[in-house]
Amino acid sequence: MTITGPAELTEAARAFAVRRSTTPRPDVERKALLAAPRFGDVFTDHLARATWTSETGWGDRRVEPYGPLELEPSSLVLHYGQEVFEGLKAYRHPDGSVWTFRPEQNAARFAASARRLALPELPAEDFLGSIQALVAVDEAWVPDGAETSLYLRPFMVATEPTLLVRAAHRVEYLVIASPAGAYFSDALTPVSIWVAEDLHRAGPGGTGAVKTMGNYGASLASQAEAYAHGCDQVCFLDARTGANLEELGGMNVVVVRSDGSVVTPGLSGTILPGVTRDAVLTLLREAGHDVEERDVPLAEVLDGLRSGEVAEAFACGTGAVVTPIGRLAGTGFDERVGDGTAGPVTVAVREGLTDVQHGRAADPHGWMVRLV
Ligand SMILES: *Cc1c(COP(=O)(O)O)cnc(C)c1O
Repeated sequence: MTITGPAELTEAARAFAVRRSTTPRPDVERKALLAAPRFGDVFTDHLARATWTSETGWGDRRVEPYGPLELEPSSLVLHYGQEVFEGLKAYRHPDGSVWTFRPEQNAARFAASARRLALPELPAEDFLGSIQALVAVDEAWVPDGAETSLYLRPFMVATEPTLLVRAAHRVEYLVIASPAGAYFSDALTPVSIWVAEDLHRAGPGGTGAVKTMGNYGASLASQAEAYAHGCDQVCFLDARTGANLEELGGMNVVVVRSDGSVVTPGLSGTILPGVTRDAVLTLLREAGHDVEERDVPLAEVLDGLRSGEVAEAFACGTGAVVTPIGRLAGTGFDERVGDGTAGPVTVAVREGLTDVQHGRAADPHGWMVRLV
């Protein structure tokens, strides 16, 4: 596609009134930060925001300078965790234009998460409009280095000051943005996984299938246990049987057999339906792999690793895209995955996906949406 000039702001983006920072980061400072971005520790000059009350609905859409929030200590979210969030990225393409990946999927999941947490749904056009409005104002913060992006974090919090246990009558929606390099230090260096046995992140009828802070809070003790065992990440088992792999704290998990077939835990209601998971499974099916979504017993995976029937495993999510798993350890086992390095299926699907996201390959599925 030939790009002629900047993309027009949609009407939904123009609904966000812009108040520019009077103290943006100086160019040299921003450029230094963008030269080697890490993950999640630097933020752009602005944020997007809207306010909801039970009386007036959504209003006061704006882009304003990034800064501390003023919150009552009694804000409902600080006590009862009424919050939902999303994560997606803006990518700079070789011609300078800026795009994002399947944002309508994030908008729909954000609405589903809000319903589960008894929060008001944000209309999809406001979700998309807020992202375009923020990225347009902070466009200079979208890095152009290999595998870099601007990570976008939309979230919604219950700000009503009350200790009453009920859904809030006042809610704030915000989007913040953070330039991102590789989530792990090197994209193709395999991570090691600790399988959590006693603690679970989600249970039937709970909130495992939506993006809310409580799932992450519940995962941190197990993540600390993983570090204590010399592992990078934790993988949870299902709470009902304790036998089946579910997912990592913030990434879905996929196993590749030596015959090229692929198996991943099905969307049973306790795992998060990842946008990356969906795209990866689509690309694998199109590449001719037989893909099964079903219960994945830990015992089957361990047997397969020992027999050689399981050749590769990887984790996937927006932050780290596709990350090879090189080792699977837990109480009483410690197995290498394949030869411990990134396998060919993992490498190929990672490349296939990042080539589309970064504008190096055609986008036959229409996954990319232009922002700037
Ligand atoms: C966000 C998230 C994922 C990955 O979802 P993507 O849409 O691919 O980023 C996986 N698991 C959990 C628990 C998550 O919160």
